[in-house]
Amino acid sequence: MSASTESGVVEAVGKELFIGGKWVAAQDGKTFPVVDPATGNELCHVADASPSDGVAALDAAVAAQADFAKMAPRERGEILRRAFELLMRRQEELALLMTLEMGKPIAESKGEIAYAAEFFRWFAEEAVRIDGGYATAPNGAGRFLITKQPVGPALLITPWNFPMAMGTRKIGPAIAAGCTSVIKPAAQTPLSMLALAGILAEAGLPEGVLNVVTTSDSGGVMEPLIRDGRARKLSFTGSTGVGRKLLEQCADKVLRTSMELGGNAPFLVFEDADMDAAIDGAMQAKMRNIGEACTAANRFYVQRGVVDEFARRLTERMRALPMGRGTEKDVVVGPLIDEKAVEKVTELVKDATDRGARILTGGSAVDGPGHFYPATVLADVPQEARLTHEEIFGPVAPITAFDTEEEAIAKANDTEFGLVSYLFTSDLNRALRVSEALEAGMIGLNQGIVSNPAAPFGGIKQSGLGREGGSVGIEEFLEIKYIAVAL
Ligand code: NAP
Repeated sequence: MSASTESGVVEAVGKELFIGGKWVAAQDGKTFPVVDPATGNELCHVADASPSDGVAALDAAVAAQADFAKMAPRERGEILRRAFELLMRRQEELALLMTLEMGKPIAESKGEIAYAAEFFRWFAEEAVRIDGGYATAPNGAGRFLITKQPVGPALLITPWNFPMAMGTRKIGPAIAAGCTSVIKPAAQTPLSMLALAGILAEAGLPEGVLNVVTTSDSGGVMEPLIRDGRARKLSFTGSTGVGRKLLEQCADKVLRTSMELGGNAPFLVFEDADMDAAIDGAMQAKMRNIGEACTAANRFYVQRGVVDEFARRLTERMRALPMGRGTEKDVVVGPLIDEKAVEKVTELVKDATDRGARILTGGSAVDGPGHFYPATVLADVPQEARLTHEEIFGPVAPITAFDTEEEAIAKANDTEFGLVSYLFTSDLNRALRVSEALEAGMIGLNQGIVSNPAAPFGGIKQSGLGREGGSVGIEEFLEIKYIAVAL
């Protein structure tokens, strides 16, 4: 069987738990199915960990921690560098595997593999740049030595929407810093992470440094590990609701936390914007990952003088997008992850139209098999509509007109989230003024994509705590130790 056919790529992946460098079945022998969201067909079964499997994974991470912390930074970096190369060499097969379990079009899956791999290349370079300090105490008598050490065993939890990149964005800095870890991917998309475990082993990662636990009982398996006390860190990417719950659990043993949570990105277009760039940016910010991204533009606020032109041009572009299975050529709108996602999008669109919004294109779900919702544009969306306050997580672009800069900023900031905001204007003063006023950890200024492994990704308000990527990404996995020296 060819490793690049659909059944071939699924076949090639380990389906068991990856603990202590070995593939092992769940202790009670249970498995759960992984389903193709475009067809509803089962792809395969993977091991269904119970709480005792979780503890075995943490045991392995704890056992490997002391030796791994001593491994030379250059060696840790070289493992990551080799894994980067392996990921890129297998980009095609890994992209097909991702499309099968998650649904996104193949071109986007390939893009995600490159993005995911880039975290390994970036952190390979960061592993050898962990800094420290030497200073004279203010009284001149003593000296301060400042050094950084790995936090210790880490627990990593990732969502289904970027099955590979959300993993490498955590595993890369963890390895670079010298931390061992237990990672739990989302039950809907475990295959990419299992493939990554194989790649890291091939790249020479010592046994027990990364342990992968797949389970249909995420709370039941992870809560005991969080409360165990031996893991010293939780890095979570997912919804704000689950993040809040995990923060409470972490309080028990005062774990260090990194939280990459939900978003509700506003997309502001001023009358002085380059309209071609604004439309291109809107398509990227809305349609990347079929709208199932924490960075997805959730609300479009467009100045009154250009709102009709913006709506007309966006509608033309959205209407032309081919919908279908992500494996088919030229498809842009793949399936949503499950039927619940389609129901939620349907509900939000109905709520908006009940409150007076107009449908310019799309607007109703497509019959199965698969979980499809077409690219949709809504105009005249009132600020009270639910979709201006909740993550849509689907291909729906709600447009609202505004008159003044102050009004645009107030509407944009009218949310508990603060992950990313997009802003299109050709006036430099306005660009900087509005960027400073927007309550978000990231701003897309005249561009519709902000994600970059070399930049600090993360949110403020209820979108999270900490940053991933950039030169600060590794700090999330390091503790500062200060040694007071008597001289
Ligand atoms: P989710 O339901 O919060 O799940 C995220 C992860 O947490 C999954 O692995 C899930 O496992 C696990 N989980 C759920 N309940 C848990 C519990 N009680 N204890 C431990 N783990 C638990 O989010 P999602 O639906 O997968 O992902 C979409 C959300 O992620 C959106 O809100 C999106 O904005 C956010 N997101 C944020 C970023 C960012 O960087 N800020 C990036 C991507 C996505 P199971 O699914 O197997 O239960």
